[in-house]
Formats: sequence, C-alpha cells, structure tokens
Amino acid sequence: MVTEYGNYVGGEWTDSVSGETFEVRNPAESSEIVSRFQDSTVSDAESAIDTAVAAQNDWATVPGPERGSVLNQASQALEDRKAEATETLVREEGKAWSEAAGEVQRAIDIFAYYAQKAFDLGGVVKSSSGRDKELSTRQEPLGTVTLITPWNYPIAIPAWKLAPALAAGNTVVAKPASVAPNSTRILFECLDEAGLPDGVANYVTGSGSVLGDPLTTHEDIDGVSFTGSTSVGTSVAQAAAEGLKRVQCEMGGKNPTIVMPSADIEEAVEAVGIGAFGTTGQSCTAASRAIVHEQVYDEFIEAIAEYAESLDVGPGLDDPDVGPHVSKGELESTLDYIDVGKSEGATLEAGGEQLTGETYDNGYYVRPTVFSDVDNDMRIAQEEIFGPVLSVIRAGDFEEALALANDTDYGLSASIITQDLTEANEFLDRIEAGVAKVNEKTTGLELHVPFGGYKQSSTNTYREQGDAGLDFFTATKTVYRN
Ligand code: NAD
Repeated sequence: MVTEYGNYVGGEWTDSVSGETFEVRNPAESSEIVSRFQDSTVSDAESAIDTAVAAQNDWATVPGPERGSVLNQASQALEDRKAEATETLVREEGKAWSEAAGEVQRAIDIFAYYAQKAFDLGGVVKSSSGRDKELSTRQEPLGTVTLITPWNYPIAIPAWKLAPALAAGNTVVAKPASVAPNSTRILFECLDEAGLPDGVANYVTGSGSVLGDPLTTHEDIDGVSFTGSTSVGTSVAQAAAEGLKRVQCEMGGKNPTIVMPSADIEEAVEAVGIGAFGTTGQSCTAASRAIVHEQVYDEFIEAIAEYAESLDVGPGLDDPDVGPHVSKGELESTLDYIDVGKSEGATLEAGGEQLTGETYDNGYYVRPTVFSDVDNDMRIAQEEIFGPVLSVIRAGDFEEALALANDTDYGLSASIITQDLTEANEFLDRIEAGVAKVNEKTTGLELHVPFGGYKQSSTNTYREQGDAGLDFFTATKTVYRN
C-alpha cells in the first residue's frame, strides 16, 4: 500500500482541487513507490497564502516565549520520531543512513536553537539626547513568507527557514521539491502536534513551474526565501523583486579546495574525498574542484584515486559511504558530465561509470569519479555537476591556486589545506566565498553561524542560520519615546 499525503493548510491535511497526485520513488530501488503527494494548482497555492495571511496578526501578537515553546515542543516531537524521519529521508532521497540521521538531528537542533531566539528579539538602547527619552528597537515579523526548498536536504533546509520564520512571528507557505517532499511533511506534523495555531504554517506540494508564480508574486506575500539552483533562483529573485518583495536565494556552488605542499596528504585526501563524494556529491558545498600545488600533485592524484575506488557504494539503508543519485534525471546529468570531461581531454583516474549488477540495477548509482589534468576553463571545472565527480587542477604556486579558486561564477564554500599560517590568512582575506575554511572540508555547517554565498551562489543580501537567520524574517522598527 502506498500512502497518499495531503497539503497542510489551515491546520488540516487536504487534497488538491486538481484531484491529481504524483508519486515519489526510492532512488535505491526505483520500482518502489514510497508515497504519493498532491499535484497542487495555482488555486491551492492561493488558498494556502490566504490562510497564512489571515493567521498572521494573531501569530505576531503571541509573545516570543510562547512561540519559542511551540518550537521546543516541535523539536521534541521530531526527536521522538527520529528513526522514522531518518528512514523516510533515506527512502525518498537516497542518503546514507548515518548522513540522514545527522540531517534529522540538525533539524531537531535548529528548532531548539530558534525556540530560544524567540525569547529575546529586539532591544533597548540609551538615547543620546536626555534621560527623559527612551529608544528601543523592535524586530517585528516581516509578515507572510513563502519558503521554496530543494530536495538535497529535505528536512534540514526547510527547518532552517521555518524555525526562524516562526520564531519571529511570520506565517508561512512552504513548497518542498517534488522528488523529496515526505521528509518536509514530517516537520509540519511535528508543528501540528506541538500546538502551532491553525494556518500559521502551511505546506503545499506540486510542480515548481506551476506554483512558483503565485508563491513569488502574490500581492500578499511579503518575502520569498528560496534555496535551489542558480537558474531557478535567478528567476525567483527577479519575479519577487518586481513586486518589491524581500527575497533571499541561496543557490549553487563549484567549491574549491586548495592543497599546498605543506599539507599532510592523507588529511587533504580525506577533506577533499568526504567533501566531494559524501552525500553522493549532492551538496551545494560539495568539494567539486581540488586545486593542487604541482609539488604534491602526483602524490595527491594517486591517493585520491585510491580513496575514491575504496568507497563502498550502495543503498542508503545499508549505510554505505556513497548512496544513489536522487533520480534518473540527476544520474543522467552526472553521466553526461563524465562524457563531457572525457571529451574535453581530462584524464579519468577513478570511477567514470554507472554501477550495474544485482544491488545497483534498479537504482541510480555512479562510481565516485576523479578527473585529473583538468583545465579550469573546462565545463567540468565551471558547471555544478551535483554528483560524485571531482576535478583536479594543477597550480604552480599559491597565487595561481588562489586565482583559479576564484575563477568561477560561484562563491559558496572554499577551503585550503596548509600548515602555513600566512598562506591560510592570505586565503581567508582574498577568497571570494561566503564560507571559507582552513584544514577542513568544504561541506559541513554549524547551525549557530551564518551561512550563504558570494557571486552567483546567493542573492547575498541576507544570511541563513545563526542570529543572521532571523534578519530576513524580521523588519526593524525603531521607537522613540519622549
Ligand atoms: P531547483 O532549483 O530545481 O528546485 C528548487 C525548488 O524550486 C524546488 O522546490 C522546485 O520545485 C522549485 N521551483 C522550480 N521551478 C520553480 C519556479 N519557476 N519558481 C519557483 N520555484 C520553482 O533545485 P534542486 O534540484 O531541488 O536542488 C539542487 C540545487 O540546490 C543545486 O543547485 C544546489 O547547489 C542548490 N542548493 C543550494 C543550497 C544553498 O544553501 N546554497 C543548499 C542546498 C541546495
């Protein structure tokens, strides 16, 4: 039996007026339909928006500590369902079990973190013009916001938008990606169980090209927070800006790791390897380019190829090193890029093929792939591949390595592996990326510090996570009292 799920609007699970549903399949075993969701229409999106708008004033007047208490209870509700949420995530997105469990834990922690933030929004400052005057700021809710999210972290990313939005007193309409909407749904069940008032958080599933327009242009929407590809994000930013809506788009990456001669090669291989092949390379912060100093280039290539070949690839439920791609389309895109790399003249050092055989035939598996002799102008060095494919580029010295690292349209995450503090500091000063790391992999984020990109990785106006994560969802009112 395949379970069919509704939209969550006004505190009720409802069917789309279309009467249509779409199916979600297990990427490790594509014959398995794991669930069905509502194929919603523009009118479904508009009803959800109307519902959220109607609930906004009341939610805004709920005291911060009460809003925080709801988020705390939702965090606890998710904690109680951690194993179920992890399995749901593995079955729809394909992530290895331990990565999925880590992602669910992140969502639990994010709700608890912003629960606390809800207690102390706003502040009082002393006036410079007399003791009979008072100045204060209020961080008021922005209003009603839409949250549009991708499939690759289908519980953590919706959580890191929902929690600050709700903590700050906004009402929301969320639309998850259609290949993985089920993990996001669990967040709404947890909020419902936690006693969130009806209509405050709403969830609508369906095609982005159908729902995108009302969700980004509706006159009653005050802000749009989007995470996804740079191509879709650019159109979302343009549509929202047209209506003078606040908009935040977090988008793709082509993240470099520079490896310098002073690096411990084993440490460098681990940082690059986990960054490139963890989550099947399906992370916006994936280490897709290694820029390696010529003194250690050959040694690095040999070691990273050996590392890639040693990885265990398989169904997420078996907790392998590398799981399947999320969908046939993503698998085909990665295989196409492997062909592009070969035709551009890069040297294939490891992987480079779809995996076949009993475990693999019904899933979307590619062996972790390493290309050497990559020129930074090649498409495999410039375009986001979103699969387990690493391009290794040779650099003559630090200056060249840094120039190559910055020679990309993207600017999300970047790292350097070095024992030289001056080099590390020079890198931190000059790298064009929103996240810069020394002796670390490009992937992996802490929830209490800001996250976002430079250049075409982000609209670069607001950051997500940490204290900064609240900024997008609040409007500051400055109050003078005489
Ligand atoms: P996508 O852009 O295809 O879809 C993202 C969301 O936008 C989905 O919910 C989709 O249904 C919706 N959408 C599609 N067309 C739309 C339209 N015309 N208007 C409004 N919404 C529309 O991205 P994806 O394939 O789901 O996710 C992968 C991408 O996300 C990668 O590029 C990755 O780098 C990026 N990503 C970025 C971050 C970050 O924080 N920077 C984090 C995770 C993923």
